[in-house]
Amino acid sequence: MLALSALPGIGHAAKLNVMTTTEDLAALAREVGGDKIEVDSIAKGYQDPHFVEPKPSFLLKLQKADLLAVVGLQLEIGWLPPLQTQSRNPKIQNAGPGYLDMSQFCQILEIPQGQVSRAMGDVHPLGNPHYWLDPENGRRIAKAFADRFGQMDTADAAYFQGRYADFDKRLAAAEKGWEAKMAPYKGRKVVTYHRSWPNFCERFGLNVVDYVEPRPGIPPTPSHTLELINKMKAEGIKLVLVEPYFDLKAPDAIARQTGGAVAVLMPSVGGNKQITNYFQLFDFDVNLLVSLLEKYK
Ligand SMILES: [Zn+2]
Repeated sequence: MLALSALPGIGHAAKLNVMTTTEDLAALAREVGGDKIEVDSIAKGYQDPHFVEPKPSFLLKLQKADLLAVVGLQLEIGWLPPLQTQSRNPKIQNAGPGYLDMSQFCQILEIPQGQVSRAMGDVHPLGNPHYWLDPENGRRIAKAFADRFGQMDTADAAYFQGRYADFDKRLAAAEKGWEAKMAPYKGRKVVTYHRSWPNFCERFGLNVVDYVEPRPGIPPTPSHTLELINKMKAEGIKLVLVEPYFDLKAPDAIARQTGGAVAVLMPSVGGNKQITNYFQLFDFDVNLLVSLLEKYK
């Protein structure tokens, strides 16, 4: 039996069945998994990943999953736990062998110090979960997938590591391009709607000074919006970075009052039809930002 299971295609004739919570994780799984895995994500890239409507069709997929990869840090806490429970698949429960929390491999920002109270907002109590927006974290996620796939399908372990090495090389080349495009704007101050962009902005040299949300997960209030407008005028801040699933009313008003602009950036693969992989995500965001940073100085 042991000898048989070591033969490629016999030890693991079927493809690994991978489910991810977000399209970003699915895209990275695809980079290293190639045609040895099937992968699907629960949240679509155009949806707010904090609030996803659990559809019954996800249950069927979760029932059959060998692996469930999550962003973690409570990003999915509002919708994933009941799906896991109802799937009755022991592998993908939090303590199961097929549960993979990618936050453990990544650089996490905004980890709260000391006591966390509800007054601080309740969206990111364990640190900022939007960490996939730094390509270095994308690299770490891809490596974690390659390692885990190789443990689950030992016959194809070299295949997964080979694909990871290729991805790493292509990503390094792409990072050089993105960094070169963003370099002239290093240190520029911006405002973002939600705290989705700390990893992205740290990596590409933008300085996030405030948020349209008064606190994480809390919609804009007139008083906070007014304060923000005054601050942006005083400091000459022109750009408001907004995720595609938020109401543009407050950001548009802020841009009008400050003579600036709203940049609807894509936080995820699948945010629009052009963005079908991890590289296109940064291509889109960097190109849009560069055009607006150049225009609104
Ligand atoms: Zn968030």
